[in-house]
Formats: sequence, C-alpha cells, structure tokens
Amino acid sequence: MINTLRQIVQQVSRAETVEQSVTDLVNLTRAAMNTDCCSLYLLDELGLLLSASHGLATDAIGQARLQLGEGIVGTVALREELINLADAPTHPAFKRLPEAQEDEYRAFLAVPLVHRANVVGVLVVQQRIARQFSEEEESFLITLASQLAPRVHQRALAGKASEPRRCFSGLSASPGIAIAQSMVLKPKTSLQQAEQLSSQPEQEWPRLQQALASTADELLQLTERLDSDLTDDIRMVFDSYQMLLVDPELLRSFEQQCLQGWCAETAVCRVMQQAINRFATMSDDYLRERGSDLQDLALRILSQLSAPSALASQPQQPLILVATEISATMLLEYGGEQLQGVVSLRGGVNSHAAILARAMGIPAIVAADGVRLEQLDNKLILLDALSGQFWVDPEAAQVEHYQQTKAQRDRFKAVMQQHLGEACVSQDGQAVQLLLNADAGSVAELMAQQGVSGVGLYRTEALFMASDRFPSEQQQRRHYRHMLEQASGKPVVIRTLDVGGDKPLPYMPIREDNPFLGWRGIRLCLDHPELFLGQLRAMISANADLDNLRILIPMVARLDEIHQCQRLLHQALAELVEELDRPLPVPALGIMVEVPAALLQLPKWLSQVDFVSVGSNDLTQYLLAVDRNNDRVGQQYDSYHPAVVQAMAQVAEHCQGHSFSLCGELAGEIKGALMLLALGYRDLSMNGPALGPIHYLVRNLDLSSLGTLKEQLLDARDGQQVRHLLHQHLVQVGLDTLEAF
Ligand code: PEP
Ligand code: MG
Repeated sequence: MINTLRQIVQQVSRAETVEQSVTDLVNLTRAAMNTDCCSLYLLDELGLLLSASHGLATDAIGQARLQLGEGIVGTVALREELINLADAPTHPAFKRLPEAQEDEYRAFLAVPLVHRANVVGVLVVQQRIARQFSEEEESFLITLASQLAPRVHQRALAGKASEPRRCFSGLSASPGIAIAQSMVLKPKTSLQQAEQLSSQPEQEWPRLQQALASTADELLQLTERLDSDLTDDIRMVFDSYQMLLVDPELLRSFEQQCLQGWCAETAVCRVMQQAINRFATMSDDYLRERGSDLQDLALRILSQLSAPSALASQPQQPLILVATEISATMLLEYGGEQLQGVVSLRGGVNSHAAILARAMGIPAIVAADGVRLEQLDNKLILLDALSGQFWVDPEAAQVEHYQQTKAQRDRFKAVMQQHLGEACVSQDGQAVQLLLNADAGSVAELMAQQGVSGVGLYRTEALFMASDRFPSEQQQRRHYRHMLEQASGKPVVIRTLDVGGDKPLPYMPIREDNPFLGWRGIRLCLDHPELFLGQLRAMISANADLDNLRILIPMVARLDEIHQCQRLLHQALAELVEELDRPLPVPALGIMVEVPAALLQLPKWLSQVDFVSVGSNDLTQYLLAVDRNNDRVGQQYDSYHPAVVQAMAQVAEHCQGHSFSLCGELAGEIKGALMLLALGYRDLSMNGPALGPIHYLVRNLDLSSLGTLKEQLLDARDGQQVRHLLHQHLVQVGLDTLEAF
C-alpha cells in the first residue's frame, strides 16, 4: 500500500499543470482502488467545484457545484468526516446533480481533504454495485487524502495565479508601507546551464581567476555603498563573500575542474552547486539561507565570465524591486535613495537580504504566494509590509488611503524617535528601563539616548555561527569590548553561548531527535569548560576598566548549573588577574528564566544570582509544549496564553526587591509591553525598532492605574481574551494607534 500511495503522491506533485495534477489524482486513485468512478471536488469562495473526475460526465467538470452541507459531498466537507454508503441514492442527503450523470453509481465513499485544520476539498470513489467499502479501503483513501491535501491546496493556489489577481500576500520581512513603480530583476545567468568542455583548456583557469578578481572588485564597490551605521553582521556577509573568493579549497576545486578540460562557467556551476546542495539539506533555517549567499556569489562570478560589466547605475525614480530571490548584493546595487520597497518571490525572513532590508529600513515582503514575475513587471505596486500584503495596479482610493497612513506613520515614527532622547518615565512618575536586544554591530547612537538604559541582551551566537571554527578568545574579546564601549557607561548584558536547539554550529554538528530538549545552552557549555572558560575570559578582559558587563546564563534548569558557572567565572577571573597582574571588576551573574523548572525554583535560587531575565520565547515554547519554529503548530504558540501570563506574573512576584527584566519578543510588542507593565515589570529589553513605540507607550501610561487590568488578565480564559483586554485598555487610554507599529 505504501508504494502505491507514494507513486500517486509523486505523480500528482510532478504534474506540470493543475489540471494534469488533479486528473492524475482521480485516474490513479480509481485504478489503485479498482472502483468505477473517482472524483475530486475543490472548495473555493463559491463552494465545492467538481474539479476532476473519471466516471462522471466530462461536461460537468469545472461546472457542477455543491454548497457546504449540500448533498453527501457537501455534508462530508461540513462535518469534516468520512461517509461510507452502500447505496448512496437512497440516502436522505443524496442530491442529484443532473449534469454529472451519476445515477448509475450506488456504493459511495468520500473523505475530506484537510490542510492546516481547513477543508480544501472532498475526494470520492463510487461503484455501480451496492456494497459497503471495506475498512482497508477507508483507511487507504484517508491516508491518501491526508498526504494529498497540502499538495492539492498548493497547486490550486498556483492555478489561481493565472487569473488576473491583484492582491497577493507573503511574509513581512521588514515592516512598512511603500507605493512605487516596480522593477523586475531577472537573473542574467543561471547555475543550471549545459556543461561544456573547452576548446582551449589552458585558458580557462586564468579566465576564471580574472573573473574572481573582478567579482572581488565589484563586491568592494558595493560594500563602499554600505552606510557606516549598518550592523556588523551585514558587513560580515560581505566579508564572508570576499573570503570565499580567496578560499584555497574553493580555488583548488575550480582549478581542478578547469584542468580536467571544463569551461570556466562549468567549473563554477559544478563546484558552487555542490556547496549549495550541502546547505540546502540543513534543517536549520539560518544555515539553509546561507546557501542563497553562495548562489548569489556564484551568479556574480558567472556574469563576470560572460560579460564583465560595471555595476548598475542607481535608479533615478522611486522603485520597488522585485525578483525571484532578492539577494543582499542586489539591494546594495539597486539601493540608495530611490529604493522604496522589495518583493521577493522566494527567500525567508532570516535571509541576508531580509536582514539588510530591516537594517536599511526598507519595507520588504518575501515568499510571496501564488504570483509570477511577469505579473509584477513595471506596475504600480502598493506594498503593505505590516500585514504582508501587496497590490498590483491598486485603486486610486486605496493608494490615497495608504499614502495618508504612510505619512501619518512616518510623522509619528519621527516623533517617537525624537522622544527617545528623553527619560522613560510614565505619567505617574515611574521610571521604566528600556534596554536593547543586540545581536551585533553598531548600537552607539541608541545608547547615547537618555531613554535607552543599556543593552539587555547581547546574543553571542551570531559571532559563533558566522565563522567556520570557534572564534578565538582575542576575536571574542574584540567583539565584546566593542559592544561594552559603545554603551558608554550603561550596562550591557552579554549572554553566554546559547547554541544547540535551532542554532547548530556549522563546525560542531549535533544530531538529536529532540534538539530543543537536548544539548543546548548552558548544558553544552558546561560539558565543554575549555570553550566556556575562553568565552568568560574574553568577556572579563573586555570589561577591564569599563565595568559595565553583566553575564547572563541561558537555559538554566538546575541549581548546580548556577554553581558551576560561578566556579568557572571565578576561575577565569583569578587566572586573568594573575596574568594581567591587575585587579579586574567582578561582573554580575544572572540567569534566564526560560525553562519551567527555573520558574518553579526561583524563590530558592534568587539569593544566589545577581539578576534574572525572563526569556518569554522559550518559556512559551516549554510551558505550552509547542515548538517555536514549527508553523504547523504556529497558532498554538501563544505568549498571551493564560498559562504564560500566570508564569510571568509569578516571576514578577517572586522577584520583588531583586533585579529582573524580560528580554523575549513580547517586550517589544505594544500589547506585550502593556501586559508586562501591568504585571509589575519595569525593565524591558527589545529589538531596536520597538524602542520608540514602547517608550512612547510608557510615557503616556499611568502605571499606577493598571491594577484592574492585571486582575482581568490573570482571570482571562484564553489568549484571545488576554489580547482583547489589552486592546481595550489601549483604546480607553487613546494609545491603540501604537498597535500598528
Ligand atoms: C527567549 O527565549 O525569550 C530569549 C530571549 O532567548 P532566544 O530567543 O535567544 O532563545
Ligand atoms: Mg531562549
């Protein structure tokens, strides 16, 4: 049975068109089950449409329709369960569709196609004789339907793209609104080209060396266009491109291919494709995205080989850039003043292009659903990268509405940004510390603002993930020192390495069935004291004569982990004092509360640590047993779930009189921050763009009047009610416009 299932699924997935795919589905299913008829109904806005059939009248395909709840097929869709009838025409729900000519059929078995909790269609098999379908037949059809539902849904979506459609959606990779003419960038070359042997093999390697040198020059010119404020991780992308261009192993592989007689183009395609394939199979989103960097680099080398060209001149008109996959280098090449927005048909929110777009403040939508490049060429595009939607040739009234919203937003944003220079104090005079979550890079400008109290979370993983080996103690020291210096006297919380889980290191593969419950965070560091001590030493020595370092330990679940960290911290400190022959400041040591065990043990542990920081991202994941990166259960991952609210309230209660903060995504959301303030949090750490809006929120709230809201929140029955209560409060105090930021 498994083989038959697999064959059907594969053939349906491989079909070139939607029509072919649904026709294959009914033909193969009918043959596999040996029935007289098989039909597929797909659900659209108008109801269930007979979309393919082997056995019903061909004229009815694409014409016959049933509503939800109408006839037996409609009942299956409405009740979301299988119906198995020995003699369907005698059933009271049976509805005769004259155009389908199904009178001759009696036995009837129908199952719903369900994708992500939504019915997308119904699959039916019928037979002329009256008989009950067997249990095996039922389970075969159910299994087939469950495997086909996502594919059928995808194909139906893609099919609709051929109709003139004007509104599309994708993932918002950088928030904002843009309205401008589009420019589609088509790749000048491709990695999928026919392999060619050279007629002058001795010239190929020098030719490729020349192209590599021109690519390096071109990248250098692009990097010069980088704004000096852009973060280090963006710089690191371009540095890593440059490093690849002189990587001895890569160069050797290129040379070998050329010496075997292949053209330089073929050498590039072969070597780079192999490297890209290695990244493509990685389960980690971050690393998979690095495959796109390689592809970008390969295409740049190939275009230098085909026609060495200068960089594109900067556009003269405002534009929205559209491509199958926007790369970071494309953004720089076509960026500048005129670039208003970006639409990428592929790519993820972790791609370097997405990171760069956020850093440049350019609204961007990636992974756009059901749209083709041709539909977007040279069109007026309205991009709403707040909701993840965009319109092609939008109505004038809609453009006007968005222009007003955008102008309001821009004005409001500027005001909020200006206010950051003032202390963050609420209407009733309570001070709130707003801190920055920083992964790397320039934070000096934000740290100079009076309303920003320091860095509340500096994640050190990016530094470890961006290299091809463990960064040396000196390298780490330079990075930490840079961060501590930029904060100019304000505290900086540096977190020790939190890899494992969804963040594996390329040079330290960990294979586990359940990585989030596995070897991650402090568990891994304590099993490798030689690495952990190196990191602690780098932090302590970076802090010499600055004294604004606070060290944070992730994923703590046991008291002895705290004790081991204290011991290693003191060991590192003593070693350095001796080596440098000078006294060094002792940094504060804090723990993250993100494992439920830490929350429950907190009252016993508080006297042993200097501070506590709640990691609401992981705390939500572990409290609700919902993987934070799995979109199948994305709707269940809810930081406003009453259990999470209770947990955060408990931390605040236990920690009265102690230093405690929250550094998960929640602190940067308007509703989240309001909730935390109501629960008693006064230290909130968030991403840079959230600082302005949250600062504005605090300055316009009366914190002493949040008592009733707190009670209502703790009493709420579900996440939806929690959100509703928060929204209502924002409306009451006239701050609900902030929810759009
Ligand atoms: C958290 O879990 O809330 C947190 C801040 O850490 P990270 O997102 O890096 O796991
Ligand atoms: Mg965490």
